[in-house]
Amino acid sequence: MIAIMMETALTRNSLSELSINLEALAANYHFLAEQSAPSECAAVVKANAYGLGLRAVTRTLEKAGCKTFFVATLDEGLALRNITKKIIYVFAGVTEETNLTFAEASLRPVLNSIQQVKLWNSKGPAAFHLDTGMNRLGLSKKDFLELSVGIANGTTVKPTLILSHLACADEPGNDLNFQQLKTFQELHPTPQSYPRSLSASSGIFLGPQYHFEMVRPGYALYGGNPTKNRPNPMSPVVNLKAKILQCREVARGESVGYGATFRSDKRRQIATIAIGYADGYSRALAQTAYVVINGILAPVAGRISMDLISVDITGIEGVKPGDWAEIIGSTISVDDLANCAGTIGYELLTALGPRHKRIYIGANI
Ligand SMILES: *Cc1c(COP(=O)(O)O)cnc(C)c1O
Repeated sequence: MIAIMMETALTRNSLSELSINLEALAANYHFLAEQSAPSECAAVVKANAYGLGLRAVTRTLEKAGCKTFFVATLDEGLALRNITKKIIYVFAGVTEETNLTFAEASLRPVLNSIQQVKLWNSKGPAAFHLDTGMNRLGLSKKDFLELSVGIANGTTVKPTLILSHLACADEPGNDLNFQQLKTFQELHPTPQSYPRSLSASSGIFLGPQYHFEMVRPGYALYGGNPTKNRPNPMSPVVNLKAKILQCREVARGESVGYGATFRSDKRRQIATIAIGYADGYSRALAQTAYVVINGILAPVAGRISMDLISVDITGIEGVKPGDWAEIIGSTISVDDLANCAGTIGYELLTALGPRHKRIYIGANI
């Protein structure tokens, strides 16, 4: 197992370490590809591969067999084009200003409106995004039927992919899944004319009827649980630890941190740890989260500062400055920590911040 440390001027003497396990990432890709076979398994690497590093993640997925990538914006597409020659789709689609840049970089826009289809017409391969009920991006059913007439009579160029997105894929019992599936099936019942893609991470686990010709997971690749409220079938990819800077005793009645929101009910030991909201450790984690020190849970005490948190280590033996605290790891998953903050792991990952030393495990990047 090779580990590569990514150092910048900002992380040379870092007090926190973010390890990204590329072997687990590859294993997750293989697992999702298996689950959705014989459909193609593409990968969503928007937002710097969910904060984990576009280059390392893309190289790993390429090696694992991934042939198609999705990003959100043109700039992300251009950055990705410098890393891979594989197929790249851009969810945001084209504008008059960006049309040529797409074509020059061989990026495939995901066209979301009739106007975008007209703008792009015959500049190269592109996908159509069909809105089946999320009402966010995409062609309406009416727009799509209008374009289908154009495709049939040769005035509109055929898309290389038709995609749609599920609003409630993480709730298997939600009726909207079935409605969206039906709409998607009805509009182009056979794959003969163009391949179709409906499912992201969670949709893959709704069953084979949701797979069509291509699936496009993001979150599950990075170790997040695509099956909410059930055991996570994915391998953890992210590990985050931070250093203890100081240990102190507080007397009964004394407070800890901004706003004096934590008041000690007795004599307690407090450790101050070098991570804060500037590192993605949200202020919403005050009062709900914990870290792991020497294998024992230590609850957060008081407010989260920009660079620091305080945790209650009363009863944990032998803790000293320089020791590591697990922030995300074998005890606290990304989903656990996000839950504590009242958010989802997606937001947590993409907010991790630039101050962590990044270590890529299993890397040949
Ligand atoms: C982000 C995104 C995905 C990936 O979703 P995950 O839940 O992370 O798997 C797929 N399709 C679209 C349109 C997206 O915006």
